[in-house]
Amino acid sequence: MQKDASPPAAVAPSIPTATPASGLGKVSESWSWNAYENAPSSSEIHDKLLGGLLSAEFDDSSCVSRYRLAAYRRASPYKPSPELVKSLRRFETLHRRCGPHTAAYSKSVPQLESHSGSHAECKYLIWGPANGLGNMMISLASAFLYALLSERVLLIDRSRDLHALFCEPFPGSSWLLPPDFPLRPSSIFNDSDGRRLGRILRKKKSTATGLVYAHLSHDYDDYDKRFFCESSQSFLREIPWVALRSDQYFSPALFLNPAYERRLSKVFPRKDTVFHHLGRYLFHPADAAWEVITGYYHDNLARATVKLGVQIRTHFKGSIPVELVTRQILNCTWTENLLPKIPSPEGRPSSIAVIVTSLYSVFLGALEDIYSGRAASTGVNVSFHQPSHEEQQQTGSEAHDVKALAEIYLLSTADALVTSAWSTFGYVANSLAGKTPWILISPRRLPACTRGASMEPCFHFPPNYDCAVGGFLETTTVLPYTTNCRDRISGLQMVDGRPT
Ligand code: GDP
Repeated sequence: MQKDASPPAAVAPSIPTATPASGLGKVSESWSWNAYENAPSSSEIHDKLLGGLLSAEFDDSSCVSRYRLAAYRRASPYKPSPELVKSLRRFETLHRRCGPHTAAYSKSVPQLESHSGSHAECKYLIWGPANGLGNMMISLASAFLYALLSERVLLIDRSRDLHALFCEPFPGSSWLLPPDFPLRPSSIFNDSDGRRLGRILRKKKSTATGLVYAHLSHDYDDYDKRFFCESSQSFLREIPWVALRSDQYFSPALFLNPAYERRLSKVFPRKDTVFHHLGRYLFHPADAAWEVITGYYHDNLARATVKLGVQIRTHFKGSIPVELVTRQILNCTWTENLLPKIPSPEGRPSSIAVIVTSLYSVFLGALEDIYSGRAASTGVNVSFHQPSHEEQQQTGSEAHDVKALAEIYLLSTADALVTSAWSTFGYVANSLAGKTPWILISPRRLPACTRGASMEPCFHFPPNYDCAVGGFLETTTVLPYTTNCRDRISGLQMVDGRPT
């Protein structure tokens, strides 16, 4: 998501130069290729289970990407903690015991209507999607983290096409809400329903309901925000079915709860790796998307020495200021030594493949024009590749969403990433890649881009609610391993929180 901006009054079509008079950032005259320092060597051994993150129990043919993705990305320097691995295996056992089509599940369904308060054998979290693919992935990963902490079986509402995009993540079980589930999505995720947690808290009156709906989307109100308080969690512990809808990366707020925080600190000794691990664990492109990813990769990217991802998400009203945005991208990539502007010294990569993703085709041509004929002068062969240009967002159309997913995964194979401010599409790509991105903030300001605070997605609308006394509390002041996002000052982002 990004704020609208109007087109510039006049756009100079010239290629950026390094002089201050051009209004551009300082371009380093001495190249260091630090940004690509950890690029993979061809002899890298691929750990298909990602350090124990993935279960070895799957039938390999059930999902082609699951055990093969590792070969397309550089090995992650961030290993999952033994506590995370243990938690995942425990969760998988729970899912197998209580998931759809088990006796425990059949016993739990009647508890939807009314619940006596007696301890439920199995508890469930139904997650509902909202907005585009990036939004859905960050929200689903957060819901999974909540399910892990609250020991609930995660089931996803299938009203969107996620079942066609992703493989099942839990061995021997399914995360899809069964088609014969007695409640329709419109009745589960009903903002004006009396089962909405915010309404229950506002009225200070709980009913004997077996299902409570937590509304955690960007437009949640002050009562919904109390979801993260211990008093709400203790109320929810007695409820067999919790439904949750969000378009946000709300994982950081789970750290606000002292009991969850103690557990999370063991599970994630490095707080900036939460989505990196959860995303790599949960999301495996289904075979149709995997075919697109690998086909494009081998045809266009495999032979380059290093890969740079450039994700362009614009929300301009009227015509797109192509030159202005192109200039911003060049300012950023030249200043940060991601692309060569001048003849490069020893140690340079011989080729850089730039993966450009955008809904529009116009940027690719502009970048190619600037680099045509430049290989000889810079000594680096720079090529640009844009897998698709849909020209407009069509979230919900399966063919469109497969392309979007493929592009997120192609970006996640990059050795360095430049992403767009506010875009969850970019957040997912850089976090799966394990890279802190350079973020394009505004094409009219310098510097052209800024380094992200970490590889974690930004929580755009954190609760900022003081559970102890009520009222406003700036969340970053209570969680030492969080900061404001570089692309959204009121957002919340996890950073590496290990004691030094
Ligand atoms: P955000 O709106 O930038 O936070 O990202 P989302 O992924 O939530 O929603 C944007 C949606 O627009 C995506 O899911 C795609 O459907 C589409 N989209 C945006 N940028 C691109 C792109 O570069 N490539 C493709 N194929 N689709 C895109």
